[in-house]
Amino acid sequence: MKSFHYIVVILTLALLSSAALQAQPISKNWCGYSGKSEWLTKYQAGEFEVVEKSDDILYVPLRIIIVGRNDGSGYIEPNNLLVTLELLNSDYEEMNIVFYIKEFDYINRTSYYSYTNSNTPVQMMSLNNKSGMINSYFLEGTAGNCGVYYPGPDALVVTNGCTGANDRTWSHEMGHLLTLSHTFYGWESVEEISEIDLDEAAPATVLYRGVNVPVERVDGSNCADAADGFCDTAPDYLMQRWACNNNGEYRDSLLDPDSTRFAVPAFNIMSYASDVCVTGFTDDQRGAMQTNLAARQITDATGVDRVAANGEDMNLLLPVNNATLEVSDYVELTWNSVANADYYIVQLNTSTNFNGAVLQSFIANDTTAIIDEGLSPNTRYYWRVRPFNRYQTESDFGDQKFRFKNGEFPTATIDAALNAAITIAPNPVSGGQALRIDGRDLGQSGKMTYELVDAVGRVLLARENLSVSAAGFNERIETQDLPTGVYFLRIRLNEKLVTKRVVVRE
Ligand SMILES: [Zn+2]
Repeated sequence: MKSFHYIVVILTLALLSSAALQAQPISKNWCGYSGKSEWLTKYQAGEFEVVEKSDDILYVPLRIIIVGRNDGSGYIEPNNLLVTLELLNSDYEEMNIVFYIKEFDYINRTSYYSYTNSNTPVQMMSLNNKSGMINSYFLEGTAGNCGVYYPGPDALVVTNGCTGANDRTWSHEMGHLLTLSHTFYGWESVEEISEIDLDEAAPATVLYRGVNVPVERVDGSNCADAADGFCDTAPDYLMQRWACNNNGEYRDSLLDPDSTRFAVPAFNIMSYASDVCVTGFTDDQRGAMQTNLAARQITDATGVDRVAANGEDMNLLLPVNNATLEVSDYVELTWNSVANADYYIVQLNTSTNFNGAVLQSFIANDTTAIIDEGLSPNTRYYWRVRPFNRYQTESDFGDQKFRFKNGEFPTATIDAALNAAITIAPNPVSGGQALRIDGRDLGQSGKMTYELVDAVGRVLLARENLSVSAAGFNERIETQDLPTGVYFLRIRLNEKLVTKRVVVRE
């Protein structure tokens, strides 16, 4: 029995190590990166001169690649993207670094948008990265991770769901890109925190990717060789997302290999402590990132003296407010050019309330935008615009919200003879009763279309191209799902139009 057990262990180890040789396909965790860079190893061995914090702000060019599905849907909401960028910049402010938007790019490819195999993003990055900038991809799914740094193509991915004013995934992946490891490096091999025995001394080493990684001791005796190699990051063995207590620490204390008890602090962005617990980096981590960034030679001073664009300068121009347009699936929106604006966020909605999810929200780099999909005929739309610049993204939408109608919906009778030939009964109709449409002696046969429209122009029901004879027709509309109120029944027979007002009551 014992030997059998031994064989199982050997087999498991063999499976694990062969899995580890492949790029990591699926992670249980928040971040999909788990390495220690060769550059960092050399840096910590003293091969590079440490670059101190710059006196001047270093502007770091970002290329933001927004990935959508094949049909162009699913892009990250741009206001949310900017809020996340502001958090990234606040996390790096202490290093006098400002990440700015050098360019936006878009990729429409469903297989990239949500992937399960790590070869996919490596291919995506190899084909789409540009040099001289930090390439950050925003997409929907990375096999269960919030974000991943890919060292081969040297680019990072953040999932759309792991963004926002309180989500530090971008800051964390940027830390990896600028050479940092996890503070718990080596412990990635352990499945869960619950596997750590809090009453037993930690082992002297953990086996990770075939290497025995020394376990960091509290007395600092091996801090340069153990874990992330930084002596000012505390020992951390916690490889799974964890919440902090009121002291800003993990709730339980741990035992190091010398059986010394210690608490794991929760402030470090490169730990797996919850976003609400983390605040920044240590001096040594910052020194490594400053040095790594300097070696990349991509920073510039183009952001000096740039100020934020002001939403109050925003003037919407066309279509003029309250315009009624010819029915179309193509509308061009135009606004003024705002000082200090490099980009504009355009929002389109079917109500004046823009606080929640809106119909469309996208970035324009000019003072016009074309809406060529998603427009319904005979519908009223509202739109507004927010200017922002590539360095200072804090700005507001202008106060103006313009509206336009995509097509007129007539309330007057257009063909008197047809109007007389069609009766609607009962009208008013009680909810639940069927509404009858009867046509008699129409004067012509042909194709009939009718639709029921509510008071704000939404089409609730449509029947198209019914063949009717000159003698007449009968149609019924069920009303049990209709709220009480006023509706319009639009009937078209060949080229003739009739609109009937219908009242649904309780
Ligand atoms: Zn990570």
